[in-house]
Amino acid sequence: MKLSTKLIHAGVEPDPSTGAIMTPIYQTSTYVQSAPGVNKGYEYARSQNPTRFALESALAHIENGKHGLCFSSGVAATDAVLRLLVPGDEVIAANDMYGGTYRLFTKIFEKAGIKFHFVNMQNASAIRPFINDKTRLVWAETPTNPLMNIVDIAALAAICRERKVLLTVDNTFASHYLQNPLDLGADIVLHSATKYLGGHSDVIHGCLVMNDDQLRDQLYFIQKSCGAVPGPQDCFLVLRGLKTLHVRMDRHCSNGAAIAHWLRQHPKVGQVYWCGFEDHPGYAVASRQMRGFGGMMSFTLKDDSPEAAKKVLSSTKVFALAESLGGVESLINHPATMTHASIPREQRIANGLSDSLIRLSVGIEDVDDLIEDLNQAIG
Ligand SMILES: *Cc1c(COP(=O)(O)O)cnc(C)c1O
Repeated sequence: MKLSTKLIHAGVEPDPSTGAIMTPIYQTSTYVQSAPGVNKGYEYARSQNPTRFALESALAHIENGKHGLCFSSGVAATDAVLRLLVPGDEVIAANDMYGGTYRLFTKIFEKAGIKFHFVNMQNASAIRPFINDKTRLVWAETPTNPLMNIVDIAALAAICRERKVLLTVDNTFASHYLQNPLDLGADIVLHSATKYLGGHSDVIHGCLVMNDDQLRDQLYFIQKSCGAVPGPQDCFLVLRGLKTLHVRMDRHCSNGAAIAHWLRQHPKVGQVYWCGFEDHPGYAVASRQMRGFGGMMSFTLKDDSPEAAKKVLSSTKVFALAESLGGVESLINHPATMTHASIPREQRIANGLSDSLIRLSVGIEDVDDLIEDLNQAIG
């Protein structure tokens, strides 16, 4: 089955009791048993919920994986993976990634005795010197947030396999539609379904997809024991969002390409970070591992002051100034004070994330309106 068909049909069956074509929202906390322990496989909704199961199955299918597990947010899914570790274990993580992941690693798990090495992974073999016999996990994000750097997933996976280290790839920016890390050798794929999968900025949700049965059992145990499960209404919204992922992503990609090229020729724009430019250092890898370049990009102004950036950020009328990304509507964001404020300034600057950097999540509106809006805001 091709991806567009899978997005609509995978994991969902007509409801067995009524034939309802859409998966019902099983808004229940518990299930009646006919005798103690005699039940239909459903006991308590933290462990089992049919709406969630339908979504988990759909997510696994479209990521070409065997198992899906859903969580109440993207960071709850990240938290579940980190709970596979014990004090003394070490993690190699990308030095350019989602600020909330960085915060979870450094403020919660470092205290719990996990050691993190933050490494620039644009050259996959850069992780080698950090691998030792305590290394359990490599955490990668590609394209990275917000600098749109590309990590070679297959190269990273080969090193991880050789050294028997788990590789998790945060696939939020690309979505299943543009990139499938499990096919390239990753062990676990993470999505903040809050973003492109939900697609309508109306739900907080996260998921993991994996192939290994044992890994799935360990993560399922964490899911039900720690309890960060999504409610059925939220699962329904993500199931509904998935059905149009391919149509939306095609438009995000074409609008994104038009805006990136437009920004690049604008006399007041400094650098444009978008992995679809042929001279982007990750272009060759991106073209190999992605089916399109998406709607995420960042740029600086030639006037690199925070004030100049703030003026643009407060002047757009179609682009809304907000955190998050991946919805149908276009958003503009200031990573230094918004999504990435939890990364210390010195480290942010050292990683290339300047105070004037502006990030765009290009939506699916008419591209002429989007360009006109940016044009009047940049002035
Ligand atoms: C938003 C985001 C997350 C966290 O997801 P939430 O659903 O907000 O908890 C993780 N990774 C990336 C790349 C994100 O953009």
